[in-house]
Amino acid sequence: MGLVVQKYGGSSVADAEGIKRVAKRIVDAKKNGHQVVVVVSAMGDTTDELIDLAEQVSPIPAGREFDMLLTAGERISMALLAMAIKNLGHEAQSFTGSQAGVITDSVHNKARIIDVTPGRIRTALDEGNIAIVAGFQGVSQDKKDITTLGRGGSDTTAVALAAALDAEVCEIYTDVDGVFTADPRVVKKAKKIDWISFEDMLELAASGSKVLLHRCVEYARRYNIPIHVRSSFSGLQGTWVSNEPHSDEKGPKVEQAIISGVAHDTSEAKITVVGVPDKPGEAAAIFRAVADAEINIDMIVQNVSAASTGLTDISFTLPKAEGRKAIDELEKAKAAIGFDSLRYDDQIGKISLVGAGMKTNPGVTADFFKALSDAGVNIELISTSEIRISVVTRADDVNEAVRAVHTAFGLDSDSDEAVVYGGTGR
Ligand code: ADP
Ligand code: ASP
Ligand code: MG
Repeated sequence: MGLVVQKYGGSSVADAEGIKRVAKRIVDAKKNGHQVVVVVSAMGDTTDELIDLAEQVSPIPAGREFDMLLTAGERISMALLAMAIKNLGHEAQSFTGSQAGVITDSVHNKARIIDVTPGRIRTALDEGNIAIVAGFQGVSQDKKDITTLGRGGSDTTAVALAAALDAEVCEIYTDVDGVFTADPRVVKKAKKIDWISFEDMLELAASGSKVLLHRCVEYARRYNIPIHVRSSFSGLQGTWVSNEPHSDEKGPKVEQAIISGVAHDTSEAKITVVGVPDKPGEAAAIFRAVADAEINIDMIVQNVSAASTGLTDISFTLPKAEGRKAIDELEKAKAAIGFDSLRYDDQIGKISLVGAGMKTNPGVTADFFKALSDAGVNIELISTSEIRISVVTRADDVNEAVRAVHTAFGLDSDSDEAVVYGGTGR
């Protein structure tokens, strides 16, 4: 029996009962002969509550202090979990990200892991302990400041530790039974996927399926770590995310689906730069200003310029959380770039259809747009990759659009409704 890394999300450890339930599960894995490393998130909606608190004190909190605050959430759950395990008669030790050797760059609030040196975790395991690690945090290599990895970052901590410790699997325990063909909170008829490739999972995650974080899947693909996403509330098999179709002893290999699923995302906003001179260098200047502020953008569209004025509009989407910073940066560069004005719209949503079969099925795009038009949903922006089509619509239309597309592509399950065991969906 080898080493397993298990990650428990916030909804799995939302209260004392949850912590005790999870502790039992961890002890069972240990009793089965595994060495167990656990990565834990903050309890319930603690991180959101800490963010709200920070914003009451300062509208744009300093990155270093913000990270120091947010990491407190995971410290609470890791210590309580270690106590609950000890109470069951097993040895456990908790570690902060820094103590566990999670070394990052120094970009506060969205640091990247650059190295993992889990010496203390190894020692704890060798001494017979269960090691509990605080997710979503590390320490910067140069300044030795505490950093966080961005929302949902405990998934990345888990895979990074699994890679560094050469674990046989990284189990991600959450509040649904696995990865579904759409968010089960929105589509009751969503189907659980038994196996999905890293490639399709990367696209789903990048398109907003927050069941796994994009960076975590990237990391797992790079180090070829199989991920098993499953519920901490049931004993069911979940979804395997790996390179090769997963086969278990009982059944044949699972085939790659043509369409893997529908993802949605309401966490983005749209900025339109109005009245941009239609000449070389303008787009470069706009996106340089945004990039210099470390803001990642998603979709871009440029209108045809009006012949009479020689002016055009450029729209792009970005995380809502970065909207204010982007507007400030563009305002600062307004004179140099020479546009008229900025428009900010945070009432948008994105719907994406993902599947490797898109490469070879030319009708998919047409069917996708037909499903949206039948549902009366207006499309504002479009972007595509080889295995994904995404559109931006009004935020209010998103849930309806996801259901319409899910049905149109024959993804609805004809058996049970998908179960959501916990969490607030926040
Ligand atoms: P955790 O607290 O365990 O990290 P998250 O809230 O980050 O949990 O992720 C689990 C949630 O992801 C589910 O409750 C579900 O609402 C949402 N979700 C979105 N898309 C999907 C999908 N395709 N399959 C499963 N869950 C999804
Ligand atoms: N607690 C952090 C968050 O809510 C990290 C995580 O849960 O993965 O984003
Ligand atoms: Mg998560």
